[in-house]
Amino acid sequence: MPINVLFAAHEKRWAQYEAPLRTALDAIGVDYTLAIELPPADVDYIVYAPSSPVQDFTPYTRLKAVLNLWAGVEDAVGNPTLKVPYARMVDDEGLTQGMVEWVTGHTLRHHLGMDAHIVNPNHSWVPDAPPVSADRPVGILGLGELGSACGQAIARLGFPVSGWARSQKQIDGITCHTGTDGLNTILRQSQILILLLPSTAATENTLNAETLAMLPKGAFIINPGRGLLIDDDALLAALDSGQIGHATLDVFRVEPLPQDHPFWGHPKVTVTPHIASETRAPSASRAIAENIRRGEAGEPFLYLVDRDAGY
Ligand code: NAP
Repeated sequence: MPINVLFAAHEKRWAQYEAPLRTALDAIGVDYTLAIELPPADVDYIVYAPSSPVQDFTPYTRLKAVLNLWAGVEDAVGNPTLKVPYARMVDDEGLTQGMVEWVTGHTLRHHLGMDAHIVNPNHSWVPDAPPVSADRPVGILGLGELGSACGQAIARLGFPVSGWARSQKQIDGITCHTGTDGLNTILRQSQILILLLPSTAATENTLNAETLAMLPKGAFIINPGRGLLIDDDALLAALDSGQIGHATLDVFRVEPLPQDHPFWGHPKVTVTPHIASETRAPSASRAIAENIRRGEAGEPFLYLVDRDAGY
């Protein structure tokens, strides 16, 4: 019997994903129907954007799994009607590579002090070289798929990299920490701090007035994780006092960032519109198809969300 795969996401995504999904599903050799509308009781798998109109999973009585198109799952993980296995997106060739490039680029911007040379209306000639990378400790909060890849890329450039996760890890090139003591150790030393934690009750306001004050004076913050990780008012106060040198922010509590938000136009804030990394349709489609193959073969799904932990 063919399997039925419902694509539940914004219309413009269907245009991007239909062909790559068909290619990836053809490659796993299953007999399938792929559509944006199917009778709920016939659906086996949902390829899912949490912003889609599908919010009540109750009518999907034979559903085997929901396969997220994005890495972030905070908008669906608490849905009480979503009871089947729920997998987040891990897309090494697309999402992870894109995040490594974005994070590395912004890290080097701050490390090298590029802004002073790019915008130099007075033609000032101040030949102060930046410190070598070995003298610039970098901290990464979150050592999952994205944080560990970014940390390793930055370590390969010569920066001393420390990272923080919930569970203890061994990752080449990264000194790994856990718990409050571990967080405090990283904060005290990191001249550049990168946030790649998920959005959960436990990670809200990880950066607040107290933790921002622990960073070395003038530290740079780079947040491609989630807006909720930072207490905005505390960050603005730390930027205004000089405690924080600059914040590069890709994600916000409210998106799009409201026009009257003080981050817009703040001289020490760079706003990017949630573009740090996007799932790329061909590689993401292969990741989704692999999970469908596993489901049909009775093998465990990859990258299942831990509903208790919220990510
Ligand atoms: P992931 O693989 O689930 O990794 C999450 C990491 O955070 C893990 O290392 C986890 O620890 C750690 N963590 C979670 N809760 C923690 C806590 N309370 N204390 C300490 N560490 C904690 O996620 P990912 O794929 O790397 O993605 C990370 C986040 O990036 C996503 O959740 C999403 O919000 C964001 N993102 C943003 C964009 C963008 O374009 N801006 C694109 C993709 C993703 P354990 O390893 O011990 O579980």
